[in-house]
Amino acid sequence: MGEGSLDAQSTTPSAGPLPATQIHQMLRQQWGDALLRRLHGIGRIAANLGTPAYLVGGCVRDFLQNHPMPDIDLAIEGDVRAVAEACSAELSGAQCTYHPYFGTAILRYPDGFQLDLARCRIEHYPAPAALPEVQPAAIQADLIRRDFTINAMAISLDPEKFGEFLDPYGGRTDLQRRLLRVLHPHSFLDDPTRILRGLRFAVRFQLQLEASTRGLLEEALTQNIFARLSGARLWRELKYLLELTDLPAALEELGAWQLWPLLRPTPLEVEPLLAKIRRGQQEIHWFHRHFPDEKLCDAAVLLTILWRDIPWAAEKRLHYWPVTDGRYILNDLHRLSEIPAALAKASHPSAVAQLWESLSLPGILALLAEYPETDTITKSGRYYLLKQRGLTSPLNGKDLQAMGLAPGPQLGKVLRHLHDARLDGAIKDKETARQWLIRQGILPSIQP
Ligand code: ATP
Ligand code: MG
Repeated sequence: MGEGSLDAQSTTPSAGPLPATQIHQMLRQQWGDALLRRLHGIGRIAANLGTPAYLVGGCVRDFLQNHPMPDIDLAIEGDVRAVAEACSAELSGAQCTYHPYFGTAILRYPDGFQLDLARCRIEHYPAPAALPEVQPAAIQADLIRRDFTINAMAISLDPEKFGEFLDPYGGRTDLQRRLLRVLHPHSFLDDPTRILRGLRFAVRFQLQLEASTRGLLEEALTQNIFARLSGARLWRELKYLLELTDLPAALEELGAWQLWPLLRPTPLEVEPLLAKIRRGQQEIHWFHRHFPDEKLCDAAVLLTILWRDIPWAAEKRLHYWPVTDGRYILNDLHRLSEIPAALAKASHPSAVAQLWESLSLPGILALLAEYPETDTITKSGRYYLLKQRGLTSPLNGKDLQAMGLAPGPQLGKVLRHLHDARLDGAIKDKETARQWLIRQGILPSIQP
């Protein structure tokens, strides 16, 4: 944590008291009796072990906005493991998993519901953008290590004061005024990932940067703070950003926050890019709908779209960013512009399939994003994915060897030709494949 603190309540009028009884009632209305009973149970068990427990962070923010059931995070002042294990022993069917490295625990209930428990802590940043050193602390200290006022609120689960609302930095008022405000002047320098977290919150909840927080952002950018962040940490935040449903709004906000250089070196004409991004998202949805079990790194598709005209920049970044499928992006960026003309010339289905095959899955979807859904290129790419990609030759290497062909590179070529013949509709089963091999002079017409 850095020095100083932005006193939110001296500049922003309070949103008015929110008594524990009212919180209790709101919790019942929004989250239901069953969950309320679970929270009472945890609060009681923690108190018996001599430690307060709190709802904290994003779930309090989402609760105040009456958003659908969020992920629930609990902050425990004392021994997280003892509390989680006691809950598991005393509450019907709750299973506890403790992670000693992080000092966190997960409680999983038989109906699939789960809660995350973490120990209240303070954080000290030994250098800008370094990972923090952590020490146990009370809830008040835990709240100031957090990123924004709207994420620094807590609700007590203690039986004596269940529902007591802790909001030392005016998060509720900021939420009502739709303001995003850091908790102290060093916040972005301590941890620049907060800048990208903030941008996501701004887009998700339609928040504005509060004036002094905007000043702190500018200062952090002047100090080139992102240069100190590891590629892995930066990519993790950018990936979350690219996964936002309202990515077009996020990219516009990226411009307003002067953060485009994080994604690409040169600014873009935003409108055509946003249109391509929307098309890219459509293709991603199309893919997930048709292949629900297949893995696709959505962010790799969007990055390929964003980097389409600047392969050299991508090269530099891919060096540091652990993008799933990233190793293909560069090849795709070099090849994408050749594909449409080559497709127009391809005379056989197998030739078309080979062109699509030369791209990675994210590359294919990125190329389709450049054309309307009804375009022949889109249709060709989707046809490849749906029908051609999974097609296999009716004869495999073993079959061919059983027919007398010798193993080796020649066999590989025959298999490739068979695959093409299958794509071109010249063969459909083992027998038509055998006949085809005879016609090609690959097998003798009279077999031993
Ligand atoms: P979401 O709905 O996206 O999960 P969230 O606020 O719960 O929003 P998490 O990433 O789950 O976000 O983090 C939980 C809480 O931990 C945050 O509300 C915030 O208080 C705190 N937090 C997370 N990351 C940081 C960070 N980099 N710096 C300070 N506090 C953080
Ligand atoms: Mg969360």
